[in-house]
Amino acid sequence: MTCRLDPVAPAPPRSAAPLPGPLAWIGEAFDAVRRAGLERPHRVRGGRQGREVVLDGRRLVNFGSNDYLGYCGDVRLTKAASKAACAEGFGAGASPLVSGQSQAHERLEAAIAALLDVPAAIAFPSGFAANAATIPALVGPGDLVASDERNHASLIDGCRLARAEVAIYPHRDVAALDRVLASAGKARRKLVVTDTLFSMDGTLAPLADLADVAARHGAMLMVDEAHATGVFGARGSGLVEAAGCAAGVHVRVGTLSKALGAAGGFVAGHAELIRWLRHAARAWIFSTAHPPAVAAAACRAIELVGAEPDRRTALLATAASFRDRLAAAGLDVAACGGQIVPVVVGDAARAVAVAGSLATEGFFVPAIRPPSVPAGGSLVRTSVCWHHTADDLARLAALLVRHVRN
Ligand SMILES: *Cc1c(COP(=O)(O)O)cnc(C)c1O
Repeated sequence: MTCRLDPVAPAPPRSAAPLPGPLAWIGEAFDAVRRAGLERPHRVRGGRQGREVVLDGRRLVNFGSNDYLGYCGDVRLTKAASKAACAEGFGAGASPLVSGQSQAHERLEAAIAALLDVPAAIAFPSGFAANAATIPALVGPGDLVASDERNHASLIDGCRLARAEVAIYPHRDVAALDRVLASAGKARRKLVVTDTLFSMDGTLAPLADLADVAARHGAMLMVDEAHATGVFGARGSGLVEAAGCAAGVHVRVGTLSKALGAAGGFVAGHAELIRWLRHAARAWIFSTAHPPAVAAAACRAIELVGAEPDRRTALLATAASFRDRLAAAGLDVAACGGQIVPVVVGDAARAVAVAGSLATEGFFVPAIRPPSVPAGGSLVRTSVCWHHTADDLARLAALLVRHVRN
């Protein structure tokens, strides 16, 4: 079941017509972005995700995707999606609240709950939507959210939407979090939110300590496992499972779009928490559900995570030896704890130049610049995946050492 698409014709040149007066500010704002060296490339991908990727017509070894287990291009997901599309049609038609939830979504939510070993789960159109909707469903004016300074943009936006007081604590600093919570005596409710595997610096949250501190202050603990779902833990449910602290984590968010190779986000936990989200999470109530085909593909991926634990163990072992290799050559990757291995370059222009040199040598490793990372902390981010070969990793390590160290 391999289908090919006709190549997309190159986009026609942009119109040089001036912006209408009320939009003229956009031209000036964009010039400032360009002067700061922060213009983002718009690339077009040919074909599917996998060990290699075709970007703007160039075939590169793909270290720039979150396809950690190699399921994005897996025909078993495509088949599950086709079968569901045949059975239930393509579009979902409306929000699940209005038009009813599809069979595929019902099965998916049960599969997520079983994977995480919790009573219930709710599927959202994306991980971003899950975070942006869940925080405002848990806290509001008069409440306090404590948020790690390196949290993902979707958690940051969720905090903003909640209109609660937001206290940003230093990265992974449990003592600072303790002080924040101790001085929040008047708050009606307290919520601690954190990524588990941080997407930009590759570090792990100190989950057991966070759970202790949250418990001591009677705070809710919400964690975002977007990069850990499918990768960590004996069942593959994430870092909460790996750290053995499920009892201390109240709200577990994950995504179906990274290691699971499909699309969508989820929240899992107590059945009454999930019922509450079906009444209060606006991105679930007011957004059309995914096509049932997407839910069926995600469900198939969860089965594969259960059936193929060798993929995640091999991935984590490969990532650890890649980190060791870089560290032995003097690159600073000591803080990373998983398959995301960023190499800090510093200056934004230099990160782009390093990524460009790596592309010339056949590797796609994206440059990450502000605002995704703090100013001066630009980096090239290597995402190790199950399908990378020992030779891919050896060659990339040698290139990183050559281009970053001098
Ligand atoms: C990617 C990501 C999300 C968003 O998930 P999507 O399913 O891609 O919308 C949320 N949180 C973190 C930490 C992420 O890295």
